[in-house]
Amino acid sequence: MEGLTKTELLKRFAASGVSPSKALGQSFLVDSNLAERIARTSVPGEPTRLIEIGPGAGALTIAIAPKAISVLAIEVDRYIVPVLSDVLSERGVSNVSVLRQDVMDFKWIAELVPGEHYTVAANLPYNISATLIVRILEEIPAIDRLVVMVQEEVGRRIAAKPGTKDYSSVSVKVSYWAEAKLLFSVAPTVFYPRPNVNSAVIEIVRRSTMPAVPDGMYDVLSALVRSGFASRRQMMRRSLAKLADGNLLESLGIDPTRRAETLSHEDFRRIAEAIIAKDLPVTNTGD
Ligand code: SAM
Repeated sequence: MEGLTKTELLKRFAASGVSPSKALGQSFLVDSNLAERIARTSVPGEPTRLIEIGPGAGALTIAIAPKAISVLAIEVDRYIVPVLSDVLSERGVSNVSVLRQDVMDFKWIAELVPGEHYTVAANLPYNISATLIVRILEEIPAIDRLVVMVQEEVGRRIAAKPGTKDYSSVSVKVSYWAEAKLLFSVAPTVFYPRPNVNSAVIEIVRRSTMPAVPDGMYDVLSALVRSGFASRRQMMRRSLAKLADGNLLESLGIDPTRRAETLSHEDFRRIAEAIIAKDLPVTNTGD
């Protein structure tokens, strides 16, 4: 299928009076080779059910649709949806359902087929990418894989390992639910308008089995992560001061002088479980 070139995009925007919105994180892909590469990575084998968040004018949509059983495309910008519909219908793409909605308010349960698995394939709006990825992992188990383009710096944080400079609260939360990999970097030249920073395509694969955990464990883990990363250089003994005493860490074989940035998601989980087991208060996390 013919890719969406910058010339076609600009023509369609001019005809519909659309101009890119910074507030909506709009940077449109104008490189069909890259769109194809993301599509091949998103669906490496048999056709699957895809969700595209922020299809924009459809540069990626027309590359992923032929490989998919179906594509659920969620786009908030009402001015761009008619452009997308034209691009899809003129290219004879018929397996894409476009929903004009803010993905942050999206009612997933109502739209997903019960019992089915989904992959998210998207060039995500940069301003919500990390929050959205964590929310999907926390709340939408039917989505078991994401192949998404994000700002490179965000991608590095999402895929970072403990003890590295990019390791952050988002790395812990993502690694709790899934395994994340930075696949390749992308230069600003493939977008219109060009962003100021590099982008990266990352792959996130949900863990197929999760350990059984006590009720409320994830909330406690989230509070610990927030508190631990609020001041990265602080020892866990200090950042946990309002949650638990240093003995708790020692009883788990975790050196209380370690910093949050060195702890894996399993370490955070063990601390959270111990706090629950001891029925310690977690209301004031000191952040
Ligand atoms: N996929 C298109 C492409 O690659 O050319 C556009 C990517 S652009 C980086 C991000 C897209 O997400 C835009 O179309 C923007 O309107 C849309 N978007 C921004 N915030 C959104 C939200 N909260 N819900 C749904 N779509 C959103």
